[in-house]
Amino acid sequence: MIIDFHTHTFPDALAPRAVGGLASGANMMNYSDGTISGLRASMARSGVDLSVVAPVVTKPHQAESINRTALEINSSTSETGILSFGGVHPAAEDWRETLDGLSANGFKGIKLHPLFQGVAVDDIRTLRVVERAAELGLIVLIHAGFDPSFPGQDLASPRRLSNLLRAVPYEKLVLAHLGGMAQWDEAQELYGQNVYLDTAVCLYPWRDRSGHTTDFGGYSPLTAERFTSIVHLHGVDKILFGSDSPWTDQAESLSLLTTSGLTPSELTSILSTTPTHLLTP
Ligand SMILES: [Zn+2]
Repeated sequence: MIIDFHTHTFPDALAPRAVGGLASGANMMNYSDGTISGLRASMARSGVDLSVVAPVVTKPHQAESINRTALEINSSTSETGILSFGGVHPAAEDWRETLDGLSANGFKGIKLHPLFQGVAVDDIRTLRVVERAAELGLIVLIHAGFDPSFPGQDLASPRRLSNLLRAVPYEKLVLAHLGGMAQWDEAQELYGQNVYLDTAVCLYPWRDRSGHTTDFGGYSPLTAERFTSIVHLHGVDKILFGSDSPWTDQAESLSLLTTSGLTPSELTSILSTTPTHLLTP
């Protein structure tokens, strides 16, 4: 059983514009078309059995339609192997109703993206969302560190994430990108804390739309040595595999992980045991 804890899809009608807009805005390569069928094809190629979709509500009014689509995705998880989290915008007036609705509809978790949402991860509006999600038992997956669409912005920096962990300690928090994409030094203060970290993009040579590797004005991948030392420092039982598909290739992300120098039992933990445990109430 291989679980990818961090993927993105868009409704078929919106995918060309959404993926195209993000890809051209940041000059970032996409490896599938961002649809459910694109993700399924990628899973078939890579051997991923279950993909968790992490929808980002970039404008408060989008929550309803995004969550309707997410619920539809979840009605066929047993056939597709795709499970969607819900989305909520911390600046929305009805953030609490949205969370309660997600919980009532059986969602396992939510995704927050401080940069796309324009609300810092240690802002009171984020803290209250995480606090309510914790009361409801929802997993909270949060973007962490650098984002190619927002180079130089710090709304999801490891320092701010530490503030969040102090303010709202919660055992079902997942910080993407090992707690701080391309802010690897700063992220050290998070290692060993009671929080899950996903591996999305951390080993990946990110590429622009013409296929050349790029730093996007601030990104560099971890070496395999540094990656495995972070996994050991943090604790392998708090690490989840994520690809960030369609922004990386799932098969390549998986192969970078499996050849990074971790033992077979460590890989089983990251790919299967830990995410299964987290997703199973
Ligand atoms: Zn992502």
